[in-house]
Amino acid sequence: MSDLVSVKMRASLSGLHVSGAEKIVPVSSASKVASRLVERALSHERGTPDFINVKIESLPSDILRLKALPVKTHAVATPAEGRALAARLLAEAGIANADEIMARFSETHSLRGAMLLDADTLERLEPDQSRGVRATYMDDAAALARGTAGVKNHYAEAIVLATKVQNAPNIIAEICVSDDPDYVTGYVATCELGYRRIAVLKEKGDPNGGRIFLYRGPRDGVAKTIEFLEKTPVLVDDVPTLSSAANAPRRFDGLADALDERQAAGLSRQCRTLEGPTGPTAVVDGRELVVFASNDYLDLARDPRVVKAAADAAKEFGAGSGGARLTTGTQPPHVRLENALAKFKGSEAALLYGTGYMANVGAISALVGKGDAVLSDELNHASIIDGCRLSGADVLVYRHGDMEDLDRKLGACREHRRRLAVSDGVFSMDGDILDLPRFLEVTRRHDAFSMVDEAHATGVVGQTGRGLAEHFGCSLPDVLMGTLSKALGAEGGFVCGSKLLVEYLRNMSRPFIFSTAPSAAVVAAADAALSVLEAEPWRVERLRENVAFFVGELKAHGIAASTQSAIVPVLVGDERRAMAVSAALERDGILVPAIRYPTVARGSARLRVAIMSAHAREQLSRAASLVGRELSGEVKKFSRHMGVDTILTNDYQPVSAGTGLR
Ligand code: PMP
Repeated sequence: MSDLVSVKMRASLSGLHVSGAEKIVPVSSASKVASRLVERALSHERGTPDFINVKIESLPSDILRLKALPVKTHAVATPAEGRALAARLLAEAGIANADEIMARFSETHSLRGAMLLDADTLERLEPDQSRGVRATYMDDAAALARGTAGVKNHYAEAIVLATKVQNAPNIIAEICVSDDPDYVTGYVATCELGYRRIAVLKEKGDPNGGRIFLYRGPRDGVAKTIEFLEKTPVLVDDVPTLSSAANAPRRFDGLADALDERQAAGLSRQCRTLEGPTGPTAVVDGRELVVFASNDYLDLARDPRVVKAAADAAKEFGAGSGGARLTTGTQPPHVRLENALAKFKGSEAALLYGTGYMANVGAISALVGKGDAVLSDELNHASIIDGCRLSGADVLVYRHGDMEDLDRKLGACREHRRRLAVSDGVFSMDGDILDLPRFLEVTRRHDAFSMVDEAHATGVVGQTGRGLAEHFGCSLPDVLMGTLSKALGAEGGFVCGSKLLVEYLRNMSRPFIFSTAPSAAVVAAADAALSVLEAEPWRVERLRENVAFFVGELKAHGIAASTQSAIVPVLVGDERRAMAVSAALERDGILVPAIRYPTVARGSARLRVAIMSAHAREQLSRAASLVGRELSGEVKKFSRHMGVDTILTNDYQPVSAGTGLR
């Protein structure tokens, strides 16, 4: 005997089933789990039961382990579509008479167990036809390990059951639809196809439902099949976890389905907690890692001068600003920072926003609307894309970095009232930069507004970190957007431009008007960071050297990489492979995120290495050698359709002083 037990609970009211559950748990938690199941039955929405049966049985030590069937969700819209799909899936399993099988749900409705049908003759094979066959003694191995037994998770339970059933001898398929009249989702499971969740398999209000197991084999094998289903304990590994779907009301099912699809495609995401301030190292899950993922490029977020400025401002001006900028939210730090940013960037004026995201959405949607055209690089940041969509203007996407395509598309928009061309300055997933002089030439020739997002350029690009105009020695775009959240170590966004532009945005830009002003603390922190950046240009220089060093080390390890900023992309391609490489690096103490769809195009997953001025040479060379160990010979070249071939030809080069800002 093992130290595991099976806990089963069944509750009924006036002889009708109310709820039931079974769990496999360590004997030490059996009583706790049993009482949780009882509590759950007593508060069931179908009514308080008048009979509850709890059974606890010890289990043999050699419990069979099975791997969960792979799960796929089909988002059909109507029962007819769902049933046609179910028929197709059953046909793939070699079962021809799907319609007749589904008609049998009128009989399963009254059964406690499942109907066992001969897949060809549709004869019922259960010895007790009033009861059916009950698949029992099974649980999710991970739930057992996590100690979450007792938490109801319909989703996991169905997968566990279907997995056990498909592992029973001579069972070739199962079809299931709930007997709850309001729950229309069902599934078809087969060994080959796995668990196929079908969003709509019956009409709402139809009480007919149940499970049908389809058997193909000799009649004298039936007893063995039933013995397996009813008696053999199994634990199922790798059940997709959707803890958020546990206990959720049915109307949340569509959400669970969407998450399920993401998970099946290796695209599920989670937040990770990093202890302490952002910096070149961080403690994650109790281990210290070297971080190559922070946008705090110049290590200013934890700089004592910056932190003190925030603390002093909080003491002087309070924790929150108390209002929107146009009502009561403007305090001296807001005004000071706007002036400092305008001076730093070389513009007439600047306007603060709560975040960079808001700055992009706010500027674009204020400048263009219905009847206007906005032209957007295909690799622009999501906040630009959202701003374009929200604006209501016609959106024309031009090929990445392709100024001829931009030129052509602007030419096709002559009839529009206004034209706005918008581009990332540094492309945040690829690390390459916009050819600003050409962008300005093309936009001016078409009398279009030019807008550039300098989120990753501020503090990074240009001899002293002032951005693309400094790098190229050219003038500024009409609308220069930036963030305080990256090299300036704080948070918030801004737009620099002429006095006219800023005055217009102050009056017309909804995220500026209708959102509370950022707190004085965060604004003062950014202001202090800006002062440090201006006083210590060596930080920008050090960052540049670190990037060049790291790229050189990667090359020495057989990895073709290149960048024009502090972002070094290493293209892997496959989403799961990128995740696996990132996990392997983390085991060696290096935190490098894998970036996947929807942040980048499908099939162009990559490691995104973000370099800081504070990384030590030893940290950089170790990271490069570990990336080389994982990926040497495998890294793909960026191709045109990924939009980043420019970075193959433009190695990062320290920039000469340029002619400064105008
Ligand atoms: N633009 C770009 C290019 C970005 O990378 C980001 C941040 N990821 C933003 C805008 C949004 O800035 P924030 O995080 O300050 O909202």
